[in-house]
Amino acid sequence: MAKLRLKYYPEQVLLQKAKKVTTFDSSVRKLANDMLETMYDENGVGLAAPQVGVSKRIMVIDVSGEDEPNEPIVFINPQIIEKEGSLVGLEGCLSFPGVFFEVRRSNRILVKYQNLAGKDVKMQAEGDLLCRAIQHEIDHLDGELFINKAVSPIAADLELVKNGFIAGDVEALETELANSGQVTHTINVKDQTPVVG
Ligand code: ZN
Repeated sequence: MAKLRLKYYPEQVLLQKAKKVTTFDSSVRKLANDMLETMYDENGVGLAAPQVGVSKRIMVIDVSGEDEPNEPIVFINPQIIEKEGSLVGLEGCLSFPGVFFEVRRSNRILVKYQNLAGKDVKMQAEGDLLCRAIQHEIDHLDGELFINKAVSPIAADLELVKNGFIAGDVEALETELANSGQVTHTINVKDQTPVVG
């Protein structure tokens, strides 16, 4: 296994729709293993192939706790086939170090994907970290980033400016946020386990 180099916003590969995997060979297994090693090393709960510069529909997730045995899941060509409800919570992203804000997701999803052997698998997730992580990572495969799904776009902009991803005026944004009435838990990052994927 080898640790891979992460791509950060606004690298082009993060904005592209990734290609479907059609061959299930040792190169796919190696990529998945390397992605898992990279994800564990970065303390993430999920990672999508575009985040390591590979535009293929592969993503890995492990939502097991720190004191629990690892439970890696490799998703190939995943698709959400059912979704309902609304789930709001704090998210981070390995492609945006230091940036956290609230994102709205579906509360229940049914996802269809292929495993490393190319076998079709269905999985349901509801109201938890796994449910949120799957949606965050599938977005990466479509070139979609969490900055476009913020509950408060002003809070997201503030985080992006503070962490040097975009130019802007922190004080002006803080005033705008305070006046907007948009609730943000940005300051209380440690209150929840954010998805960093
Ligand atoms: Zn991400």
